[in-house]
Amino acid sequence: MATNGKPVKGFGLKHSATGTTIFTVMSALATQHNAINLSQGFPDFHIDERLSQLLGDAARLGHNQYAPMPGMPALRQAIAVNFKQRYGVNIDPDSEITVTPGATYAIYTAFTALLQPGDEVIVLEPAYDSYIPNIEMNGGIVVPVALPAPDFNVDWNKVKEAITPRTRSIIINTPHNPTGAIWDKNDWDTLAEIVRDTDIVILSDEVYEQLVFDGQKHYSVLEHPELRQRSFALYSFGKVFNNTGWKIGYCIAPPEYTLAFRRIHQFVAFTVNTPAQYALAHILGNNTAIPVNQLMQAKRDLFLELIKQTPFTVFTPTKGSYFQVVGYERINDMGDMEFAEWLTKEYGVATIPVSAFYKNKKDDKLIRFCFAKKEETLRDAIARLSALAAR
Ligand code: PMP
Ligand code: GLN
Repeated sequence: MATNGKPVKGFGLKHSATGTTIFTVMSALATQHNAINLSQGFPDFHIDERLSQLLGDAARLGHNQYAPMPGMPALRQAIAVNFKQRYGVNIDPDSEITVTPGATYAIYTAFTALLQPGDEVIVLEPAYDSYIPNIEMNGGIVVPVALPAPDFNVDWNKVKEAITPRTRSIIINTPHNPTGAIWDKNDWDTLAEIVRDTDIVILSDEVYEQLVFDGQKHYSVLEHPELRQRSFALYSFGKVFNNTGWKIGYCIAPPEYTLAFRRIHQFVAFTVNTPAQYALAHILGNNTAIPVNQLMQAKRDLFLELIKQTPFTVFTPTKGSYFQVVGYERINDMGDMEFAEWLTKEYGVATIPVSAFYKNKKDDKLIRFCFAKKEETLRDAIARLSALAAR
């Protein structure tokens, strides 16, 4: 059932997001109209067969009871080794890694551990739609700072101006959903400079860390010794193993932060699906997973090539993530929500209106496509969109 934004008798509103999350709205509309779903971010192809096998093995071998509260030791160990290999950083699996039921939960839990009523949190918009409600549910006050179009790189002067003595946190996301912008080393250094003499804690949402294209590098907050000491870094296996429905993620944070995080986690989820942790520990531990960024870059390249057959405008090709933002100014003047609904109903392709990523629903007439799809799905979608006429 959709949530209609009105208070339910006896239940106060905990946050300002009226209505149902856009990902549910657009996926439901896609189903209703039999549209190709390029809205919500999830792959439509099969996962690695070995991973399916391992999941079944786990259940058959009897790994079916509660895993330890911070996560299965073998999985946390495998994560630590994997980060050492990929980033050269040392992470203590016992005191710095907590396995969570997805990254969305990890972000919520970090905010819950951190925020007291009245604390301000800087959010760079457009932003993934759970951030603002999560802050508000914890009594925090959202301070939005706009990322300027068309490249959506951070305007650091604006961030500086937004900081007050009440600023407790800033949440950042690279590679960025929905714009596909990525941070370079200078961005991290500038952030470090700005927060140096404050108590600001960083939440670094790096769920798309392995989806960076054109040979560019993802800089993790964990590689920045100064910032790492004041950061929660959040990850999702869904984006690495193409299994978003498994909903397994993790939080990497300094020991004190991890203690605070687990104080909340132990009484909310307590622990995470055991067979899935077993399967992930094995595939990660054996280091045999197929790199997802090559696969996704090929999809990004195909999508960018195919979209030329349509009147959409690509202002900035995405540098990372599952997503490409485009303009439709050559097609019509509708608002982006209306446009997304119209496109789903009339042309059979579902997308996400970018206004959904702003607290005040700022409408720059942009939509987001998810290209993490089979080649056949992308070709079918573009065939439908090719019928759109430029005015
Ligand atoms: N952060 C961002 C930027 C996302 O796009 C998503 C969506 N997958 C998440 C966090 C949440 O990931 P999960 O599915 O593991 O909760
Ligand atoms: N992260 C995904 C997206 O941006 C969706 C996750 C969700 O449905 N909440 O499309």
